[in-house]
Amino acid sequence: MKPIIILKTVIMAVLFCFILISPSLAEESPYFFIAIHNESCPPELPSELCTIRQSKAFDRLKGLANQPPFREGSIKLTIMLSGDLGKWIVDHGQENTILDWKERGHEIAAHHHSIYHNSWDKYSDYENEQIGTIRYRLGCDEVPERVGNLNDFVALFEGMGGVDSGAFNDDVDKKVLPSGVISVDTGLGYPNLYEQRETRMRDNQVEKGVNQFYQYGVVKDHKRIWLGHYLGDKFLGDLMSLQQTISDMSPEQVYGIAFHNSKLGFDSLDSFIKMMINKDYLLKSKSVTMSDSVEFLTGEKVTGEMLRPYTLDAGCRPDVDSL
Ligand SMILES: [Zn+2]
Repeated sequence: MKPIIILKTVIMAVLFCFILISPSLAEESPYFFIAIHNESCPPELPSELCTIRQSKAFDRLKGLANQPPFREGSIKLTIMLSGDLGKWIVDHGQENTILDWKERGHEIAAHHHSIYHNSWDKYSDYENEQIGTIRYRLGCDEVPERVGNLNDFVALFEGMGGVDSGAFNDDVDKKVLPSGVISVDTGLGYPNLYEQRETRMRDNQVEKGVNQFYQYGVVKDHKRIWLGHYLGDKFLGDLMSLQQTISDMSPEQVYGIAFHNSKLGFDSLDSFIKMMINKDYLLKSKSVTMSDSVEFLTGEKVTGEMLRPYTLDAGCRPDVDSL
């Protein structure tokens, strides 16, 4: 065969391969992080029942962490622990299990329900009297005393290597962020979308998970970075919209999705992983922890207005959508 013919054949083969590969390149997934929200007990639940509930939650979490692809850490989880679960782990000497998950590449973060949440976790820097005023205003019938302040909350994580990220429900009032820690948080209340960055958005909207950038600002003399995530527990009916939203993102952006530690939450997580596999999106290198995802994004400073307290008619009784 003449060299010119060989050259033409090689060029044709390369072009053919490029045509085959290019659709998958165009469909490359954005980076994504998966947060697991572990909930505190409702404030009125007796402590013995709360202990039982947290014990079950820990077992379910262990079951998840021991399942592929999480066992090897090839898909990373950002596991957010409530004060109640953090205390259960300390009381039952399970810190090594947590350290093992970290070793495998997962992130351990904190999940705080502030006094503005309809299921407050009983930690606050506000004094009991101020807490009572705010909770009664929200419509609570009874207001229990706090079990500790935010330093006590953060101290629960000391034996687990400390904590510097989480979901802090600070969308109403930035004073619910603890001093000195929590650099990466999801509670700003505004999406990281250029077109809508000053429009409040709740976590049950699919677009809330799109991070085109991150927002940052200083609260209590500590720099905070805010990422957005979508609460995916109930996306089953909205799978097409989730899929479309992720398809429309560019590969250097970050999608954040959160699931609760519950049967519904973990079934939804399973469907999410299957959807990512079906779309050939599950490029393992794109799975990151929440804190690590910051390095792929640029930062935009939050305006002072967005850091001011915001009055929210939250109500007191747990409403499943906002748990
Ligand atoms: Zn929660």
